[in-house]
Amino acid sequence: MLQILDHVPSGLLDCASSELADLLGGPTLLHVPGERPEPLHVSVLLHGNETTGWEAVRGLLQGFVNQPLPRAMSVLIGNVEAAQYGQRVLPGQQDYNRVWDGGDSAEHRMAQQVLAEMAPRSPIASIDVHNTSGPNPHYACVNCLDEEHVALARQFSRMLIYLLAPNGLHSMAFSKLCPAVTVECGVPGQSEGVAHAQAYLLQCLTEDLPIPTASVVDDVEIYCTKARVSIPSGMYFSFQDTEAECRIHPELIEHNFQQLPEGTKFGVWGHPDSRLEVEGENGQDLYDVYFENRGHDLVVRRPFFLSMLTLREDIVVQDCLCYLLEPMNQGAESLVSD
Ligand SMILES: [Zn+2]
Repeated sequence: MLQILDHVPSGLLDCASSELADLLGGPTLLHVPGERPEPLHVSVLLHGNETTGWEAVRGLLQGFVNQPLPRAMSVLIGNVEAAQYGQRVLPGQQDYNRVWDGGDSAEHRMAQQVLAEMAPRSPIASIDVHNTSGPNPHYACVNCLDEEHVALARQFSRMLIYLLAPNGLHSMAFSKLCPAVTVECGVPGQSEGVAHAQAYLLQCLTEDLPIPTASVVDDVEIYCTKARVSIPSGMYFSFQDTEAECRIHPELIEHNFQQLPEGTKFGVWGHPDSRLEVEGENGQDLYDVYFENRGHDLVVRRPFFLSMLTLREDIVVQDCLCYLLEPMNQGAESLVSD
């Protein structure tokens, strides 16, 4: 399933995300040589509708058509089939960012092939570029809080999310090989997201890595993912329809990355004994920790920072409604090694 190339095919840099499937035929790992041989690993389009990563990579490579990169770069161009249709994932496919922990599907095997191909090349760092489906500030996610991971993430944003779930994340697998981050560049299609990602990739290709850590790790805000919120399968939910069994207030989209205080109205139930699925990192049910039902109103019980809420009902069904975050203590003293 995985194609491995050691050259940039002609015409590739002219392709928009939706045109890559015709040229590449499937997920492709592209080794681009550079002056320093240990590569930076970059992955883009693990979600086919999240186009910023590809736009940043092709913009960067266009600037080096006539000169070598300062460092080799191995680019995984992921779900080009879904990208052709502007979809995160196609029906029948596994989510390309949930398959990095081993398994038997074609997508799981593709992930294992990428890891086997990259490990002997000793990548200096791994950067997985994504977009959020709702408006969020740009931030970086890490699965490990050692200084190298935090320093790599801080180069992108001072806002960091530390997460250990869901399973099968690209960055989680790569964090065993090298410092690895996921960067979230706002919604797709925004030029500032592309420019930010491109500048970050170029900086990582140019600078000495690992980045000196002392100067940067004091200056971060680290949030911890406490729970993932989804709609129970089969429950009719809507952001607008007052007849829905579960109606989530769409104005919450304005509060991504803000703290929702106790008592905030989050939604309205058709039946007052309904519940959302609020799953903690170890799979525990945290509904009663963060939410309560007051009659037909769904309200916040314990304050949290809202993250990645989307109004795309199809994404809510495919993935989840949002994540709940809490801040960790700020500064280097809060860093824990794992
Ligand atoms: Zn994504």
